[in-house]
Amino acid sequence: MNSFEFFAPTSVDEALDLIVSKGEDAKIVAGGTGLVNMMKQRLVNPEALISLGAVRGLDGLEISDGKVRIGALCNHQALVKSAEVGQMLPLLAETYSKVATVRIRNFATVGGGLVHGDPNQDPQVSLLALNADVSLRSKSGTRTLPLKDFMVDYYETAIRPDELLIDALVPVLPNNAGYAYLKFLPRTADDYATVSAAAVTVLEDGVLKDVRVAFGSAAPTARRCQETERMLTGQRPTPEALRAAAEKAKDLADPVSDGRGSAAYKKEMVGVFVRRALEKALERAGGAVNGR
Ligand SMILES: Cc1cc2nc3c(=O)[nH]c(=O)nc-3n(C[C@H](O)[C@H](O)[C@H](O)COP(=O)(O)OP(=O)(O)OC[C@H]3O[C@@H](n4cnc5c(N)ncnc54)[C@H](O)[C@@H]3O)c2cc1C
Repeated sequence: MNSFEFFAPTSVDEALDLIVSKGEDAKIVAGGTGLVNMMKQRLVNPEALISLGAVRGLDGLEISDGKVRIGALCNHQALVKSAEVGQMLPLLAETYSKVATVRIRNFATVGGGLVHGDPNQDPQVSLLALNADVSLRSKSGTRTLPLKDFMVDYYETAIRPDELLIDALVPVLPNNAGYAYLKFLPRTADDYATVSAAAVTVLEDGVLKDVRVAFGSAAPTARRCQETERMLTGQRPTPEALRAAAEKAKDLADPVSDGRGSAAYKKEMVGVFVRRALEKALERAGGAVNGR
């Protein structure tokens, strides 16, 4: 690793001033779990690090107008432990609990994870299914983007070099919603997913009123499965309907072969895990799949 200058601003404004004055030679660091690995591998060689660790007011959870605002510096384990998240966004608590190990979760932050942009990460999949937005702030103001537009490509997001990710804004799940995040881990329990899937389902009189589905680890970013959702919305969730809709999700898969599996295998697993996530979400919504 090269030597670098280290800055520890205590406010967002101070951090934004430093980002502008240090320019492209500097990198923001939050938990450091992604960036420091990249520095060790010399994939990035910043001359300055601007740490967010001492910035005040970015690690809170706020609930208003049916939404949970999660500060960028909230660490993963804080979300797993939060009673509010457990009650209002149980899908998120379930998802963050499946990230790596508690040691990593104690450092890795919500904002750092989203900007890191590794398609094998877990949180993006469920945040997509939860219709999350992200807020980005620069010296010229704050803008809010749907997460689906924030994620661009492998390790690439829509954040500009002069911006900080400030928080994620997540609509609360209705009480009667079923939910599930499934992570396929054929190697070790602390690995990145071979394939993952998230589902949210709301049933009314046995009919699917709301269905949201996303998968991860099988395309350049996590992907929302709109055609799958369209096929199921307004339908009774029969095994045949679920199978056909889950198969449709495979059309969106564009995986790469790696140590976790071949591209063809991952594509097949997208269909399997989307179906299983839907089944588990339906079970939790109080409606086991008809015909079973
Ligand atoms: C061994 C290991 C296993 C892991 N396994 C998993 C796993 O199974 N699933 C999973 O989802 N994740 C996993 N992770 C975590 C994940 O890959 C990232 O390392 C982590 O989410 C990054 O969070 P961070 O706060 O440490 O970010 P950092 O490493 O500090 O930063 C990451 C990137 O975000 C930028 N950044 C950070 N915060 C901000 C901000 N607020 N505004 C603008 N830019 C910002 C940095 O400049 C950098 O480019 C694992 C990590 C390790 C080390």
